[in-house]
Amino acid sequence: MALLQISEPGQSAAPHQHNLAAGIDLGTTNSLVATVRSGLAETLPDNEGHHLLPSIVHYAKDAAPQVGYAAKAQANIDPLNTIASVKRLMGRGLKDVKTTGTRLPYDFVENEDQGMPMIRTVVGDRSPVQISADILNTLKQRAEKTLGGELTGVVITVPAYFDEAQRQATKDAATLAGLNVLRLLNEPTAAAVAYGLDKSAEGVHAIYDLGGGTFDISILRLQRGVFEVMATAGNSALGGDDFDRAIAQWIMQQAGIADDAEHSHIRELLDIARTAKETLSTNESAPLEIRLEEGSVWQGELSNDQFNQLIDPLIQKTIAPCRRTLRDAGLSTDDINEVVMVGGSTRMPRVREKIGDFFKRTPHVDIDPDKVVAIGAAIQADILAGNKPDDDMLLLDVIPLSLGIETMGGLVEKIIPRNTTIPVARGQDFTTFKDGQTAMAIHVVQGERELVMDCRSLARFELRGIPPMVAGAGRIRVSYQVDADGLLSVSAKEETSGVHSQITVKPSYGLQDNEIERMLKESLEYAEEDVATRTLREQQVEADRVINALRAALKADGQVLLKQHEFLEINTALEDLLKVEQGNDADAIKNAIERINDVTQEFAARRMDASIHQAMKGHRLNDFAENE
Ligand code: AMP
Repeated sequence: MALLQISEPGQSAAPHQHNLAAGIDLGTTNSLVATVRSGLAETLPDNEGHHLLPSIVHYAKDAAPQVGYAAKAQANIDPLNTIASVKRLMGRGLKDVKTTGTRLPYDFVENEDQGMPMIRTVVGDRSPVQISADILNTLKQRAEKTLGGELTGVVITVPAYFDEAQRQATKDAATLAGLNVLRLLNEPTAAAVAYGLDKSAEGVHAIYDLGGGTFDISILRLQRGVFEVMATAGNSALGGDDFDRAIAQWIMQQAGIADDAEHSHIRELLDIARTAKETLSTNESAPLEIRLEEGSVWQGELSNDQFNQLIDPLIQKTIAPCRRTLRDAGLSTDDINEVVMVGGSTRMPRVREKIGDFFKRTPHVDIDPDKVVAIGAAIQADILAGNKPDDDMLLLDVIPLSLGIETMGGLVEKIIPRNTTIPVARGQDFTTFKDGQTAMAIHVVQGERELVMDCRSLARFELRGIPPMVAGAGRIRVSYQVDADGLLSVSAKEETSGVHSQITVKPSYGLQDNEIERMLKESLEYAEEDVATRTLREQQVEADRVINALRAALKADGQVLLKQHEFLEINTALEDLLKVEQGNDADAIKNAIERINDVTQEFAARRMDASIHQAMKGHRLNDFAENE
């Protein structure tokens, strides 16, 4: 998805009014809420001073759900009612969840809710959307309590690779929590915004996000004000936990602990490993003390060198996806301007060093890597809520490919051209093609080419119940509306009768960046050919219309209003048009149509007179004057 920087006139608030807005990082493991106060973006702590809210919800009978640390404490006691990592289920079917290898120990209900699996708990079946809403609601309460008022709106971040279903599920969760979503923002974009990278004219940036259990790399490009995600890759099963395991295994070897040690012992070892890892981020070595099962104690030390040897293979595992994203984006490391570090595991100096070496850039690490995404979201929320002067910049999405409609002859009429900033609404009037036409087929397409067959088909629907009228008399208003999250709604309304019909589609669903590129390239390559084809098709459509209208006129009035030689002349012109109509010569069709127009002028005038005469029959001229 591409992002464009523009100023949004008229969005700024009255001088003394400050709209309360917040940025929310709804994470797999932890979530955060941040806001801009006195010009400074900061995350908000709970009563105990915790900024991070573990994304865990515990359900108990006759009690409000517990969220965060309180819920985390229930994980071992009441595992089936303690739901963690719900983000992995958002917008996913049960089949997806099972095949992606996500091991979630919940009691899944076979019935799905909006395509997502439900989880059975003591308070009933809960959907991923409802569970996420409970997390969001906790953050909402926190923000409103701290800020002393109701939030006007929020910006919620989502992974760049989230598809429309996952984005929609996130929005649904927010709505359920009573939040007004100003927009969803890609996590890597939020991190770039937090470092103010959107303020420079252009650049290509790598956002390296290594958390506790997941790794994501995104390449963003800011060009002529457009911020777009060029490529993303990652590993949903690689993170700080793997580093802990590598250290724990090393400790077991050193202390002579058997591989089949008790579960509780392993858990304790992992905690010790994690502490050692975190200590080494600021110290040269970490002391180790392990209680052995036979009651003795093993003491040791993990040096930085030893630690680096253990973790280098894991860091290496993140380099392969970095290479892949560069390849996908058609770039080399030389093209990268800035590198931004996100996620708790990027506190490890070795990670910073190795990733800095790979991209040949010193990474940005000044903002807390756990908070950077929420902070970027808060900065966006502040602008979108209208708390900035008019000339401040706003990141907006642009649609990557034009959205159009199929018209007669298999041609595409573009309604919203590519690179239009969203949200946007555009409309166009169409008319009926045939006498007595009561339905109209609407075919929504995406792409730059002139013919429907060369574009991507997004949706089809029908407008029915149009009152029968002569061709060209119906007024059908077709409106395209793309909201801030890229959802397209198309509606069609017949103006005289008010009948209407509408559909919502997701233009970016399943559309890969390289596909967008291919479609754009082809539109340039075939531009000339396309224009010629378009001209031909337009002439054929016009020919069709003329033939139908003329045949109808001849049938109705030919006998009465035409002399034989006139009838023959018109008929010859009609035959000539029929001969060239299906050919490839647009000029020949055009000439034949012009010839018909010439030879039927007199006939058309006589028909007009006759119909006026008919209409006036039995009236005095004054009747008409009085009616005016
Ligand atoms: P996140 O999912 O972004 O909250 O990242 C959590 C991960 O960051 C866990 O694996 C933590 O052990 C790791 N982490 C947090 N602080 C440090 C630190 N000072 N040094 C190394 N790793 C850390």
